[in-house]
Amino acid sequence: MNIQGLQKLTLLDFPGRIACTVFTAGCNLRCPFCHNSSLVINPPKDSEFPDDEIFSFLKKRQGVLDGVAITGGEPLIQPDIEEFIIKVRELGYPVKLDTNGTFPDKLKRLIDNKLVDYVAMDVKSSRGGYPQCVGIKDYDTSKIDASIRLLMEGRVDYEFRTTVAKGLHTEDDIRGIGEWIKGAGKHYLQEFKDSGDLIGFGLEPFSKQEMNGFRDIMLGFVSECEIRGL
Ligand code: SF4
Repeated sequence: MNIQGLQKLTLLDFPGRIACTVFTAGCNLRCPFCHNSSLVINPPKDSEFPDDEIFSFLKKRQGVLDGVAITGGEPLIQPDIEEFIIKVRELGYPVKLDTNGTFPDKLKRLIDNKLVDYVAMDVKSSRGGYPQCVGIKDYDTSKIDASIRLLMEGRVDYEFRTTVAKGLHTEDDIRGIGEWIKGAGKHYLQEFKDSGDLIGFGLEPFSKQEMNGFRDIMLGFVSECEIRGL
C-alpha cells in the first residue's frame, strides 16, 4: 500500500466510532474541487508509512480505537488493498472505506467477503454533470451506476455524499443526483472549501440558504440528507 498519511484519532471519519484514518496515494479522477491534489497528482512513489508501521500502531491502539477509516486519493486503486484490509480486520478493527465508486468489481468483492463495515461513496453530480465534476471529458458513468446499485442492495452500511461547489453544480444537478439514488438511506451534502491544495480553480461555496435548498430537493428522494461543513 502506498500510504501517505495517518491521522491517529478521528471522531468524525467513521460514524459512531473512535477511529484512525489512513490516507492512500493517487486517484483515477481529477475533480476540480479535490482538496488533496498533492495526494492525487504525482503522488510520491514510496509509502511514507510502510505497512509494518501502520500495523504496529494499530496493535498498540487495540482497545483504544474501534475502527479504521481508509480514504485517499482513491483507496481501491491500491493493488493490495484487500490484503491490507484483511490484516487490519485480523487485529479486530472494523473498516470504513471511502471510494469514488469507479471500481464496482473490487467493491463487490470486499462486500461479498464481508471485509468492510461501512462504505462512503461519492456521487459527484448528475449523470450529465459527471465529466465536468471529475475533470475527465466524456466520462462514462456506467461504473458509478454499478457501484450505486451495489450499495443500494443494502448488504453493507453505506452513505452517499456530494461535495457541491458554485461553478460546478446547479439545482438541476442536485435533482439529477436525487433521481439517480432515489430510495437510498443517507446522503450528505458537503460544502466546498478551498483547502489551498485544490486541483481546479474559480470555485466558490454555496450560501447556507442555497445548501438548505439543495437538502430540501434531496429529501424528496432519500430518507436522510444532512449538510456537512456549514
Ligand atoms: S475528490 Fe476526486 S480527485 Fe480527489 S481523491 Fe476524491 S475522487 Fe480523487
